[in-house]
Amino acid sequence: MLTVYAGRELGDYGYEEKPWYQPGARLEAFLGQLEGRGLAVSWAEAPPATDEELATFHDRDYVAEVTRRCAENRGSLDRAPDIVCARSRELLRGIAEVRGEWVPEIALEPVLDALDATLAAFAPFLESEGLVEYDAIANAVRLTDAGAAFLADPAATLGGPTFARAHVERAARHVCGAVIDATRRLARGDVKTAFVPIAGFHHAHRQEARMYCLYNDPGLALEMALRAVEGTVAYIDVDIHHGDGVYEAFAAHPRVVIADLHEGPRVPAGEVRETGHIGEGAAVGTKRALAVGHGMDDARYLAAWERLEAFVREAKPSFIVFEAGVDGLAGDPMSRQDLTPAVFGEIARRVKALAEEHAEGRLLVLGGGGYELTGMAEGWAAVVEALMG
Ligand SMILES: [Zn+2]
Repeated sequence: MLTVYAGRELGDYGYEEKPWYQPGARLEAFLGQLEGRGLAVSWAEAPPATDEELATFHDRDYVAEVTRRCAENRGSLDRAPDIVCARSRELLRGIAEVRGEWVPEIALEPVLDALDATLAAFAPFLESEGLVEYDAIANAVRLTDAGAAFLADPAATLGGPTFARAHVERAARHVCGAVIDATRRLARGDVKTAFVPIAGFHHAHRQEARMYCLYNDPGLALEMALRAVEGTVAYIDVDIHHGDGVYEAFAAHPRVVIADLHEGPRVPAGEVRETGHIGEGAAVGTKRALAVGHGMDDARYLAAWERLEAFVREAKPSFIVFEAGVDGLAGDPMSRQDLTPAVFGEIARRVKALAEEHAEGRLLVLGGGGYELTGMAEGWAAVVEALMG
């Protein structure tokens, strides 16, 4: 039996300002898909994570800061890097020139059209880092006063895409609460496989929010699993973005094996490259990451996964945390791939087999990315079917 954590509170994770990331929509689409397929899972709920629990992974001061900032309900938690600010300033100035004098009350649509045209011209150079940039600029332009202020002040920096919002902080605590509960039950043997669809916020660092990620729930699960089992603990991530927060947190930890497959900004279309994320110090060789170029189909993505699968099998993990992000599906606004739900189902089936081979079945699956609702729901449903099979 598969245990699924899908309390309504988790679904609130999202931002009204982002059309592809509306609160409630992702969980609702997933639940609709499960119902449509008649998949009978065992439902579970858990209380939100406490400060104490979040401090298993994050610094206490960071948790306090995020909580305080989100309660104010304004601004961003992350700061765009200087290089993004410089480029944004350049682009915004270009738009202001096209439009004549910058006016805060300027109508939204023509500005966004001009922004799109400008960004299209830059498209070959933007690649995946451009996602951050596009988001930061679009946010600044949407809040036109902020855009004008940013242009007016040479020293100003843009906020990143992770808006400080009370409802997101609340949802993030529920996500972590679900992941913590699932990890405890898996470690005790009460549950064999658990799935938390709204989870896998792999970009959060121990002391830093990034790219929509406030609290790093995979990191929390890994910290707990390390205390609960002997031997190695595996983190497998097939979300189309690099699990940088998890990697950096455990780069030097020899008992954490990491296998990460993602889209790389400078990898030619259709190709696969080693990224060099192999671990540090005593942990060198315990991590491996492959970056793929644009336009991967199922067969080529699966072939890349098989290289990582062999790597994980060799490590004989006692516990597996699997970030099953499906934002590499064709049509997802966050990537340029041609994958179908079937490949995610197949990879989930292989990961489950690995867990049964080495970890007495202990497998925690986190939904991760996926921003085109229909594809995302089908992708996660394919993962659920594989986990139940
Ligand atoms: Zn992603």
